[in-house]
Amino acid sequence: GEVRVQRALISVSDKTGVVEFARGLAALGIELISTGGTATALREAGLEVRGITDFTGFPEIMDGRVKTLHPKLYAGLLALRDNEQHLATAAEQEIEFVDLVCVNLYPFEATARRRGAADHEVIENIDIGGPTMIRAAAKNFAFSAVVVNPASYDAVLQELTDAQGKLSLGTRESLAAEAFSYTARYDSAISRWFVEKQADDFAPLMMTAYEKVTDLSYGENPHQRAAYYADSGARMHVLSMVRQLGGKELSFNNVLDLNSARLLMEEFELPACVIIKHNTPCGVAVGGSVVEAYHAAFACDPLSAFGGVIAVNKPVDKQFAEALLKQFCEVILAPHFTEEALELLATKPNMRILEDGERRRQNIAERDYKRVMGGLLVQDRDMGLEDRTEMQVVTARKPSEAEWGEMLFAWKVCKHVRSNAIVLSNDLASVGIGAGQMSRVDSVRLAIEKAGIAGSALHGAAMASDAFFPFPDGPQLGIDAGITAIIQPGGSKRDHEVVEAADAAGISMVFTHRRHFKH
Ligand code: 5GP
Repeated sequence: GEVRVQRALISVSDKTGVVEFARGLAALGIELISTGGTATALREAGLEVRGITDFTGFPEIMDGRVKTLHPKLYAGLLALRDNEQHLATAAEQEIEFVDLVCVNLYPFEATARRRGAADHEVIENIDIGGPTMIRAAAKNFAFSAVVVNPASYDAVLQELTDAQGKLSLGTRESLAAEAFSYTARYDSAISRWFVEKQADDFAPLMMTAYEKVTDLSYGENPHQRAAYYADSGARMHVLSMVRQLGGKELSFNNVLDLNSARLLMEEFELPACVIIKHNTPCGVAVGGSVVEAYHAAFACDPLSAFGGVIAVNKPVDKQFAEALLKQFCEVILAPHFTEEALELLATKPNMRILEDGERRRQNIAERDYKRVMGGLLVQDRDMGLEDRTEMQVVTARKPSEAEWGEMLFAWKVCKHVRSNAIVLSNDLASVGIGAGQMSRVDSVRLAIEKAGIAGSALHGAAMASDAFFPFPDGPQLGIDAGITAIIQPGGSKRDHEVVEAADAAGISMVFTHRRHFKH
C-alpha cells in the first residue's frame, strides 16, 4: 500500500498556500502538472510546471469548460497499478500515472450567495472537471492521493518529506473521505440553488450535507451514541458563535435546551431571562435588568428550574453571578460575562458557561425537519409573531394598555411552549406554565396549580393559549383564579360560548387569528 508520489496535478481556484505546497512537492522531485491559471501562478513563483495541454495532448477549450476532461488523465488516475491488464493497456496507450491530485473547486457557493449574481454567472461556477478529478483520485485511493483542503497541505507535505515521497494508505483513505464529503457538499449547494429557484416544489434544502461540530458523550440517555452536526455552509447554527468559558462538556440535552432558549430569546429586545427544562420553558421574564428578569423567571417554578438551562440577552455581572451561585444551574448562556462574574462562576466547575457572540437572527428561509420512521417531515419554521393591529378584541371590555402588554408577552412565551400550551403571566413574567398536555383544560389546570405552588398572584394576570379553547371550561378556570385578560387564536365552533363566559366575568379577550402549535 505504499505509493511513491512522482507526478502531481494541481488545479485550484482558491490559490491559498498552493505555491508553498507545490514548491515542497517540487523539492521532493515530484513533477508538477497544472491548468491555466494555476500554472501561471506557479510559474510566476519560479516553479517548473508542465501544462495540462502537454500532458493530455488536447487544448484547454471553451473558456475553460473543458480543461482536464480527457481519457489520458482519467486513465492515469484510475488505473489499478496491481492489475496486469490495466498496466498493459496503460503501456499501449502511453498513459502516465498521476499519483496526487490537488484540486479545489470554482466558488459556486460564494457566487450563488452574492447579491445580484446573474444566473449565468452562478451556472458558470458549476465546476465539472474539478469534481471529476477529485472523485477519480479519491476512488483510486489505493494508489493515489487527493488533497482538496489547503489546511491539509502542511501535513501532507510533512508526511511526504518524512517518508521519502510516500503517503500511507491510512492517509490516502482519510484524504479520500474528506474529498467525497467536499464534493457532496458542493453538489448539495448546487442542488439547493436549483430547488430555491423552482420555489413551487417544497423540498428539504440540505438533505445530505452536514458537518460534524462536535461529538457528544451520549444522547438523550447514556446508552445512546450521539454527536452534533450543523448544516454544511449554514450561515448560523445553534452553536455557531457560542464560546464555552467554563464547566463540563455540553450534553445532547443541553444543546436541545439551548436551541429552545435561543429561539425564545429572539422574541425579546428588553432585558430578558429564559429558563428551559426538558426543552420547555419553565420561567420567562423581562425586566429592568437581566438580574431582575432572572429572579422573576426563577420565581415562576423554582422546583422545575433546578438544573435548568438559563439564557439572558444582556451581560452577566457580579451581582447576577452571585444570584446564580445560589442555584443549581446546568448551563448559563449570555452575550457576555464580566471578569468578576467569571471569577465567581468558576467556583462552580459543573456549570457550563457559554458566551453567545451571535448577533444575527435566524434565517427566515430555513426549514424545520421532523424525523419520522424512515422519512422526513419538512415545513417552514414558525417564524414571527402577529402584530397587535392584526388582533381582534372580542369582549365588551377592552383591555387596558397594561393588559395588552401582558397578553403580548404571554403570547410570545406561549408560542415556544409544547402543545397544549397555556401561559399565565403577571408583571411581564410567566407565573404558571401548562405544557405538553393532551387536553387544553388540563394545561390550564396545571398552569394554575403551578402558580399556586409558587405562591404567585393571579389577580390581574393574563392567560395565553397556543390554540383555540374548544370549550369554555378552560377560560372559566382562569377566570375563577383571577385572570382578567385572555389571548388566544379563536376559531372554535364554540367561540361564542367562550366569549360569553369572558363577558359574564367582565374580563377582556383577544383573538390573534393564528395558532402556534409546537409538538
Ligand atoms: P485554473 O485557475 O488553474 O485555470 O483553474 C482551476 C480550476 O479549474 C479548479 O477549480 C478546477 O476544479 C477547475 N477545472 C479543472 N479542470 C476543469 C474542467 O475540465 N472543466 C471545468 N469546468 N473546470 C475545471
